Amino acid sequence: MKADLIGLLFPRRCPVCHDVVEDRGERVCKICRLKLPYVREPSCRKCGKPLYAEEKEYCRDCAAGKHVFRQGKAPFLYDEVMRQSVSRFKYGGRREYAAFYAEEILRKCCREALLWKAEAFVPIPLHPSRRRKRGFNQAELLADELAKRTGIPSDAGLLRRVKKTHVQKELSREERSANLKGAFSVRKGNLPYKKVILIDDIYTTGSTVDEAARVLLKAGADSVYFLCICVGRGN
Ligand SMILES: [Zn+2]
Ligand SMILES: [Zn+2]
Repeated sequence: MKADLIGLLFPRRCPVCHDVVEDRGERVCKICRLKLPYVREPSCRKCGKPLYAEEKEYCRDCAAGKHVFRQGKAPFLYDEVMRQSVSRFKYGGRREYAAFYAEEILRKCCREALLWKAEAFVPIPLHPSRRRKRGFNQAELLADELAKRTGIPSDAGLLRRVKKTHVQKELSREERSANLKGAFSVRKGNLPYKKVILIDDIYTTGSTVDEAARVLLKAGADSVYFLCICVGRGN
């Protein structure tokens, strides 16, 4: 009864069409589920981006050995549907999407995530000024939902964003790396983990995950993985 009342007062919104979800207990409309752009196999064995040549194992970037993280995965391709969905999540106050994204991440990527045997989820932090403006950190909400469902704790205080960076999407790969240099610092004291999973919303060039992984490895981690909601297209 209590759940019904909450449902009436705060109806769940669909992460695809943004309308109220009519089906009881569902997080997405039946019809909208068909529009979700799941990453299809084959996908890059390192970053999880879809591949367009059957015989390849890695995308061009991963084959070139550009990354310092160990492995990562995301359930969705970053297409127009997901661009709108994630934008509502981040800027439109649709925090309830976090539970949907977390469930999809676990449904599609749980085999890998289990093999990693990670000790903590670490959300990519926002700079405190940006966090204040937005009111929350979307990666932290996601990490909390993942923690609830797996028993692996979320440690949102491990990484801090100590440098204000420019918006990444207009920058080239080289500019992104330069922009992020020195962006993160690790909480003082001994690093309590060897294996961690970074949590972010979108993986495109990997610059953010790499920079966060770099500081964690330097602090004593030996494997850093990532889970995201979406990955960009591979090559
Ligand atoms: Zn819908
Ligand atoms: Zn790759």
